[in-house]
Amino acid sequence: MEEIKDQKDIERIQLEGLKWTVRHAYENCPFYKKQFDKAGVKPEDIKTLDDIKRLPFTEADDLREGYPFPLLSVPEEKVVRIHASSGTTGKKKILSYTQKDIDDWITFFARALKMAGIGPKDRVQIAVGYGLWTAGAGFQAAVERVGAMAIPVGPGNLDLQCQFLVDLQSTCICCTSSMALLLGEEVKRRGLRDKINVKTVIQGSERCSEAMRKAILDHLGAEHLFDITGLTELYGPGPGIDCKYHQGIHYWADYYILELLDPETFEPVKEGEIGEMVVTTLKKEASPLIRYRTRDLTRKISGPCPCGSAFPRHDRILGRSDDMIIFRGVNIYPGQIDEILSEIDGISSEYNIIVERRDAKDFMIIKVERDSAGDPAWDDDIKAKIQKEIKSKVMISADVQIVDYGALPRSERKSKRIFDNR
Ligand SMILES: [Zn+2]
Repeated sequence: MEEIKDQKDIERIQLEGLKWTVRHAYENCPFYKKQFDKAGVKPEDIKTLDDIKRLPFTEADDLREGYPFPLLSVPEEKVVRIHASSGTTGKKKILSYTQKDIDDWITFFARALKMAGIGPKDRVQIAVGYGLWTAGAGFQAAVERVGAMAIPVGPGNLDLQCQFLVDLQSTCICCTSSMALLLGEEVKRRGLRDKINVKTVIQGSERCSEAMRKAILDHLGAEHLFDITGLTELYGPGPGIDCKYHQGIHYWADYYILELLDPETFEPVKEGEIGEMVVTTLKKEASPLIRYRTRDLTRKISGPCPCGSAFPRHDRILGRSDDMIIFRGVNIYPGQIDEILSEIDGISSEYNIIVERRDAKDFMIIKVERDSAGDPAWDDDIKAKIQKEIKSKVMISADVQIVDYGALPRSERKSKRIFDNR
């Protein structure tokens, strides 16, 4: 792997990779050839990084159409493995990997673990799903690659998780943020905090409020909580992670190009504004991605990071463009509400947003849990404060309801928090 020292290195690798990917896809994948022909663009038209704008988008639906081997760009005998996303509706999205794709993935995944300080002395409890899902296989191989001890427990099973945290003295736990909170609450309930040795939590694939982060760290007695990004279409987990300064997620710009676009107009958003992540891979052989719309929302973070890494940064995942709520003509991302609630004292990390239509008018109800030690006597003050903040930062009026701690549902997987009943 080449060393990346500055922006120039990245741009050189990106242009080389973009040209290779476009030609590879055009010559070897009938789907891409058809798309490029429709858009009137040929591989030789790509001369600068800016020419990426000429390429057509690829969508999740395109992957379902090409079932079972969508975007396949190599002869089938070069495919050594497939993975599939969980997919809530219809057929799963299946992605193919060559041996080089697997090696590339584990190489940059190991880079992510190293950025989180994971090495040979660590014992890593992997509490994510194995099987068709990319998470288990990816974490397993990357943990081994950095020389740490992999403890492949898989998701759920709080009894076994707690037992291993104590008996094996795991130093790191990898899971979703919902699972981390659930496990943290269980450790607290059983009074195990002083008997375990968790220093690092690596969590993926979910929006997580500041309050929830604090609760996870407190309950487990951990020092660092890292956000690892991940997408089955983009190999799996590992394409980005925050460093120990936690000022944004460094992403591996030598493996993919990240564009942030307005989900309505497809124009690049202004520096620092929220946009949809659109990715183009630079080295992927079996299922290359060209301007793939991930639907994940974030913003770019400019300037150098105190850690000195040359890899650029984006913010945490702030939600999905599918979750964007158009409320009385205003575009609202749940991440914005999340950020506001994180700043309010006296409430837990759980909330629900309910949108309803009454008499042809939109109404928003935000249910928020009182903190576990909270006093109902403060409810009116907290409610007024949240309503004022939402009014000033998101420019809408919402009806805030404070409910008892533990009243909102929790899940080991992704918790549903938005209920649009219109
Ligand atoms: Zn950094």
